[in-house]
Amino acid sequence: MYHVKSKKAEEFISHEEIEKTLAYADANKDNIALIDSIIEKAKLRKGLSHREASVLLACEMPEKTAQIYALAEQIKKDFYGNRIVMFAPLYLSNYCINGCVYCPYHGKNKHIARKKLTQEDIVREVTALQDMGHKRLAIEAGEDPVNNPIEYILECIKTIYSIRHKNGAIRRVNVNIAATSVENYRKLKEAEIGTYILFQETYHKESYEKLHPTGPKHDYAYHTEAMDRAMEGGIDDVGLGVLFGLELYRYEFAGLLMHAEHLEAVHGVGPHTISVPRIKHADDIDPAAFDNSISDEIFAKLCALIRISVPYTGMIISTRENKEVREKVLPLGVSQISGGSRTSVGGYCEPEEEDDKSEQFDVSDKRSLDEVVNWLIRLGYIPSFCTACYREGRTGDRFMSLCKNGQIQNCCHPNALMTLKEYLEDYASPETKELGLQLIERELENIPNEKVKKTACEYIHGIAEGKRDFRF
Ligand code: SAM
Repeated sequence: MYHVKSKKAEEFISHEEIEKTLAYADANKDNIALIDSIIEKAKLRKGLSHREASVLLACEMPEKTAQIYALAEQIKKDFYGNRIVMFAPLYLSNYCINGCVYCPYHGKNKHIARKKLTQEDIVREVTALQDMGHKRLAIEAGEDPVNNPIEYILECIKTIYSIRHKNGAIRRVNVNIAATSVENYRKLKEAEIGTYILFQETYHKESYEKLHPTGPKHDYAYHTEAMDRAMEGGIDDVGLGVLFGLELYRYEFAGLLMHAEHLEAVHGVGPHTISVPRIKHADDIDPAAFDNSISDEIFAKLCALIRISVPYTGMIISTRENKEVREKVLPLGVSQISGGSRTSVGGYCEPEEEDDKSEQFDVSDKRSLDEVVNWLIRLGYIPSFCTACYREGRTGDRFMSLCKNGQIQNCCHPNALMTLKEYLEDYASPETKELGLQLIERELENIPNEKVKKTACEYIHGIAEGKRDFRF
């Protein structure tokens, strides 16, 4: 039985409801009057239900898809402007006792090199990340209570926040570790993490159990209910995601939106971000072994539909996607991307030898952070290293109300410009610096509030003189 407010995974992600949704979407995929009314509703910028959004996903009429893309672009502009927040993943440990069949860290893989960063390694890795210009990290680890207990993760977070190197500082640590207990989520909250990210992988319970045949992750309910426990533990920024390619994308899309609706209904705040990873080649993993891979076209449509269905939720694209795909989906609603990423344990300091590889998956966008920043600026985006909301306590519904009150342009926009200025002063190549400074000049004019504009100009001037860490 479907029940959005239920605490039970099988009720808030009801298989029956998803099947009915897909049947409804199929029955209405050519129903122009209904499709138009759903697009009109999306224009109100209050989002769409999983059923409505599923109809748009099923609809194959090119002119309707074009309308959906145009609306996604407009909503992205209105809510996120032209800012793109930058981050990098940091792999702490690839020890893992799970059996995920798509991930090379699965416990039976005896071929992959197993590595775990010591606190000294972390200092070196984070120093290298700071030297690139990163301010925001997503830490990643396999699930292994002996090698990677919560105490280890907490110690790593503490170390990361403590490292100061030249003008560098990691100001926000997001965490992508396996589903855990309320007590552990409380400890992560106390360690001042940003977003807790956990990909559902697939919402299809039967497939989920086959894809996770062994280990604690096999438990579908424990995994699917993790975000409720995280919120109970006090974490109010959570990041959802599915691994596209494992199951039918239409099923996953409906499940993802139902999960977002559930969090909103129960906790009063939806997900902070949604990630859209696709399966990549990795050590002993061949993406061709999974039959549900999606084309770049469908991928772009999913991004656009996420944008119009959950306008207040950020969207993340990792370096699993190449430059061309990233360029295609950026205008459709992406708000965060990684740059200069390494998916190996210790990969920021030392290139790995052929027989000593610990990578989780092949990276498609291999450009340096400076190249990514340069590219974004040329495309008309503002690369942002901002972490202000989290540091000012604007998380969960407090961040949402900033969006809803239309104050983003007076807050996020100057913050983005100031953090870009810091990047340009401290880390950029001369060419990127030149381009970025011109962009900042132009974009300062787009701050609506005159007082904020004046203060932002003063702060930016201060950064040129060596001051750091201004924020609204
Ligand atoms: N062990 C944690 C967990 O179980 O959620 C941390 C997650 S793992 C380091 C990050 C994510 O990478 C996984 O949730 C999965 O979706 C994704 N991933 C695993 N194998 C992948 C592959 N071959 N290609 C692309 N993404 C993959």
